[in-house]
Formats: sequence, C-alpha cells, structure tokens
Amino acid sequence: KLSKRLQMIADRVPKGSKVADIGSDHALLPTYLAQQGIIVSAIAGEVNPGPYEAAQRQVLESGLSKVIQVRSGDGLAVLETGEVDVITIAGMGGSLMASILDAGKSKLPGVKHLILQPNVGEDHVRRWLLENGWKLESEAILEEDGKIYEILTASTGSLEERDALESLYAERQLPGGVNVSKERLHQMGPYLINEAPEIWFMKWESELNKLAMIEAQLKLSTAEASIVKAEQVHKEINEIKEVLACLQ
Ligand code: SAM
Repeated sequence: KLSKRLQMIADRVPKGSKVADIGSDHALLPTYLAQQGIIVSAIAGEVNPGPYEAAQRQVLESGLSKVIQVRSGDGLAVLETGEVDVITIAGMGGSLMASILDAGKSKLPGVKHLILQPNVGEDHVRRWLLENGWKLESEAILEEDGKIYEILTASTGSLEERDALESLYAERQLPGGVNVSKERLHQMGPYLINEAPEIWFMKWESELNKLAMIEAQLKLSTAEASIVKAEQVHKEINEIKEVLACLQ
C-alpha cells in the first residue's frame, strides 16, 4: 500500500501515460502505477547508487522489468527527448526540483504533464513553471505523519493559455481588502489561497512560528545586516498574518 502522499501523486497520473519518475528511490510510485495498469511504461531515474539498486531490486521482485526501466543518472539526463509524456518528481526540495527541470529543458518537448511534490520551497517550483510556460493546473495539500506536503500539477499550455498564465499571479485583493503580491502568491499558492483549506492554514501557522524564531535569532545580533534582515522577516510575518486573517 502506498503512503497517502504517493497515492495522491499516483491519482494525478493520467491513464495510459508513459511516466518518468525522477528521484524514484525504491521505485514505489512506478511499481504501483504499473501494477494498477495506470501506465503503459515507466522510467525510474536515480542519481544515488543505494536508491538506484533499491529501485532495481523492487522492479525485479515485482516482475515488472518489461514495464519499468531503472536508469542511473542526474535528473532528466536519464531520458531521451520524447520518451515519456508525464514526469513525476517527489520528495525533494523545490529549488533542487527547479534546477533539475531547468538543466533538463531539452528533454521536455513531448512531455504533457509535470506532477511535482516539493518538500519545501514550493515557490521555486511555481516560479520555474511560470517562467518556462508551464500552466499550473492544480494544487493539493495533505498532511501525513505530522508533515504537510503540497502537490503541484502543470501542463503544457496553448499560446493563449500561456498569455493567461501571468494573470494567475497578478496581484490580487482578498475579500478583506488585503493586497497579495505575486511573490506571496508564488509562496502560498495561487489556488490554495483561494481554497484556503484547513491544512494550508496549519502549514502557514507553522511557517509563521519558524519565521518568528528566525526573527528572534536575528535580533540577538547588532550587525547592520542582521537588523535589516530582521526587519524584512518582521514585515513578511505581518503580511502573511494579514493574508491568513482575512481568509479565516
Ligand atoms: N520520489 C520518492 C518519494 O517521493 O517517496 C523518493 C524521495 S527521496 C526523499 C529523494 C530521492 O531523490 C533520493 O533517492 C535521491 O537519491 C534522489 N535524487 C536527489 N537528487 C537527484 C537528482 N539530481 N537526480 C535523480 N535523483 C535524485
């Protein structure tokens, strides 16, 4: 049985897909997708030898060697252009994810959907998608074992859709009259901010606690740079609080 997090990622893979799961570790996701008959084929990519061997073992023991190929390499380097139509990347930081996508741009023609689950730094992923003409289609948020995860799905849009992309992140006014900047939308999620589910509030309450600790730490120093940074963090805390207050 998959974890709730991997199950929610699996639920977003269209039937009949050819999938690449990058950073596949034990290849649990492609194994499930193949066993359920959701995918036609999969490539499980891994850069580290331990997880690569674990993935190979998993595929062999599941008798899925004809459906899933395990490949060793960095990011999208394991792919040939046009080999897959869906890429999943899960369980790593958002900035690493964005750099994997950026370094592998030449492999993306033919890919229709990206399903991404950054552990932290979701804003890096959203920014990369916007800058590279990918339409953010949906955002999901879940809690499992005391951790909160977001799942972002994106697809290649038509030219008109690409024009409309900017409007998703256009500064907007919330019902209480609070303005939300493009930066804040990248951070908090342009759809999640609309839906404002309970778990999303929990996530931002916990982010506020972390920011408050950072601010307190910075205030211990009298260095000019720390004072400036503390002021920035203080402003950020207030802005996030304002957003949450008008959605509650
Ligand atoms: N995707 C699985 C999941 O969500 O449960 C495994 C997540 S695991 C925490 C992250 C995996 O990404 C590790 O196995 C690591 O070796 C792999 N990884 C990290 N950087 C990578 C890269 N540049 N290319 C391929 N795999 C990478």
